[in-house]
Amino acid sequence: MPELPEVEIVTRRLRELIVGKTIIKARLIRAGLAPENSPRQFAASLRGARIDEVARRGKHILAHLSNQRTLITHLRMTGRFIYLNQDAEHTPHTHAALWLDGGKKLLFDDQRHFGVMVVARTTELDRVKHLSKLAPEPFSQEFSPEYLHDTLKRSSQQIKLALLDQTKVAGLGNIYASEALHRAKINPRLPAKRLSKPRIVSLRKEILAVLDEAIANDNQFEAGDLDTSYGRYDQMARVYEREGQPCPVCNALIRRFTQGARSTYYCPRCQRR
Ligand SMILES: [Zn+2]
Repeated sequence: MPELPEVEIVTRRLRELIVGKTIIKARLIRAGLAPENSPRQFAASLRGARIDEVARRGKHILAHLSNQRTLITHLRMTGRFIYLNQDAEHTPHTHAALWLDGGKKLLFDDQRHFGVMVVARTTELDRVKHLSKLAPEPFSQEFSPEYLHDTLKRSSQQIKLALLDQTKVAGLGNIYASEALHRAKINPRLPAKRLSKPRIVSLRKEILAVLDEAIANDNQFEAGDLDTSYGRYDQMARVYEREGQPCPVCNALIRRFTQGARSTYYCPRCQRR
């Protein structure tokens, strides 16, 4: 699933492509993509609106429109945007389509049907269920050492699982949580509340570093490419999907175990405690 860096890259690409364009027509092709809007309401609330800004919140992409509405998209597993000329055919998994002025159209394609879209009033975004409980953005002032300390001190979850909890830290998923814990030399099973303040300060620093590097990795994308996948982070990962390979810090072999129904990768030596 794309995490904060991949969603940030898609957001930036979309911003370059569609800000300033007007939606001439919109169609919700698979109603389940936007269960909170009927297909008729979806089409009516987007038609005629200009796209004023594209922003990101956690793993969500927000397209703010001139009609006081915001189109919220969560890509989930396989959701992706495709930007085409208006006369191009839809892909077999096109679940929504926006026809834009200037002869272009934007498709939302999703092989596995986990993606979600919501059209909401821009002034009411704080109340939209997908956004209302999200933790502060990692790159915001609010995501301070004090915030992270106060949050983790109250959690008896294992630290890796606490990092995946979007109400505690927004935007991290399996890859970057594993990578940040390795860099901060923290055992992924350690209960969050047992982390000392200095280790939390270090963890916060490494979360920002790993996200920053992954976003900078953007140059591996081709211009105009809206499709992101984990493949592109492969060369940079120190532990993720590296079971049995030597740790780049200490040479111990990276291990994998299942935590919260997902794989956690870690170094048994660097992350002993
Ligand atoms: Zn190591």
